[in-house]
Amino acid sequence: MEQTSQICIVGGGPAGLVLALKLAKSGVDVTVLEANKSYERSFRGESIQPDTVGIFHELGIADAINEHGYMIFKELEVWERDSKRLNMNYTKMPYQHKFMIDVPQPVFLNALAEKLAQYPNAKLIRGAAFDGVIEKDDTVIGVTYREAGEKKSIHAKAIIAADGRYSRVREKAAIPYTKTPQERDVLWCKMPIPEGWDKHKYYILLNGAQHIILLPSYPDLYRTGVNIPKGGFAALKKEGLDGFYNLIDEVNAELGQHVRKHITSWKDLHVLDIFTTHAPLWGKDGLIMIGDAAHTLTPLLGQGVNIAIQDAMTLAPMLAQQVQSDKAVDTQFLRSYQSERQPQVDFVTQMQQRQEKMLCSDSKLMLSMRKAFYFILNRMPFIQNRILNQISYKRQRSLAMGKIS
Ligand SMILES: Cc1cc2nc3c(=O)[nH]c(=O)nc-3n(C[C@H](O)[C@H](O)[C@H](O)COP(=O)(O)OP(=O)(O)OC[C@H]3O[C@@H](n4cnc5c(N)ncnc54)[C@H](O)[C@@H]3O)c2cc1C
Repeated sequence: MEQTSQICIVGGGPAGLVLALKLAKSGVDVTVLEANKSYERSFRGESIQPDTVGIFHELGIADAINEHGYMIFKELEVWERDSKRLNMNYTKMPYQHKFMIDVPQPVFLNALAEKLAQYPNAKLIRGAAFDGVIEKDDTVIGVTYREAGEKKSIHAKAIIAADGRYSRVREKAAIPYTKTPQERDVLWCKMPIPEGWDKHKYYILLNGAQHIILLPSYPDLYRTGVNIPKGGFAALKKEGLDGFYNLIDEVNAELGQHVRKHITSWKDLHVLDIFTTHAPLWGKDGLIMIGDAAHTLTPLLGQGVNIAIQDAMTLAPMLAQQVQSDKAVDTQFLRSYQSERQPQVDFVTQMQQRQEKMLCSDSKLMLSMRKAFYFILNRMPFIQNRILNQISYKRQRSLAMGKIS
């Protein structure tokens, strides 16, 4: 069966659904192909930056999130063994949406999907797995996909690849990119917040090259990330769970005891292969990649969802105008969109790379530099504010300064 739509988005995750909703509101015909039938997923972008909270309000899904409930992060603390190295407090930031929140991804994806369903010019097809690109004269003009075992196709003025970190659209359209594995992987688990620990604080706990991240997680848990050497999960499994507990003990023995009580099976642990991707050009004629498909980031500083959604917010008005004035969604257009988004993506990528080096190295020089860095940062609120203005409040700042509307 062959269909047409002005825009076809492959992937109905955070980037794809926000783009679809914005386009639908502008009157553009949009179809989203989403491989999964339901949004049940955990250990994905659940820590949401204040700017994204603002976007949820703009998109009209804040009520659904309030109704469900969420956790608020008021402070970030870095500890090295028993010494507090850094406290960053968000309560005094001069923005309407000050705090990061934690909300399960299915909650906001379902809320976005419900909003999208109100637009007759929008269609979300669940259980539709992308299969291949259709090209004519080196321009992407459509895609094929499989739904309930049937092969189908759709033609569109532009295809948007919002299909995440393992983007198949990127592969099938042969978009050049590089993948850079980081020095570590992360084991994620969820456990109750230990007694006496603060449920509004986001903790980074360090000891040498070993670190643990504790993120308050709805309803009353810590989402816990423990770093392991790259590809080291199989070796750790051979040691048994004691090997995992020992990694926690090395950093914080009290937490080690708590983890022993609550993490009792390998099934409680999820491995995240940490890598970044860089594509010089986020697509080609007729195809634009957004979110993780265009630039996979590391999980440090909870940036993936924020950046993916801001890609969609920037692209939507540009794309609506291009389509409605019947202009080609070609490489020239792609470059003009990419130049809007590249500076923020580059800033975050470089900052994450510096943090990765600081957290994962055990060289004496790096450990001293890390101590000095946190010492200075802890005493200089204006430097803290400059960093937060880039990674948490950039959009709210730009709105206040009239740089975006
Ligand atoms: C374990 C983990 C923890 C994370 N924690 C955080 C966090 O706390 N905060 C944060 O900001 N970020 C976090 N991230 C990153 C964040 O989840 C991503 O950056 C964000 O979800 C990217 O959004 P996206 O829409 O680009 O891609 P995705 O969220 O990956 O969505 C892609 C969508 O495309 C669909 N899809 C894939 N292939 C196909 C296909 N062939 N056909 C049709 N549909 C397809 C998928 O089902 C999915 O719905 C985390 C990531 C991981 C893996």
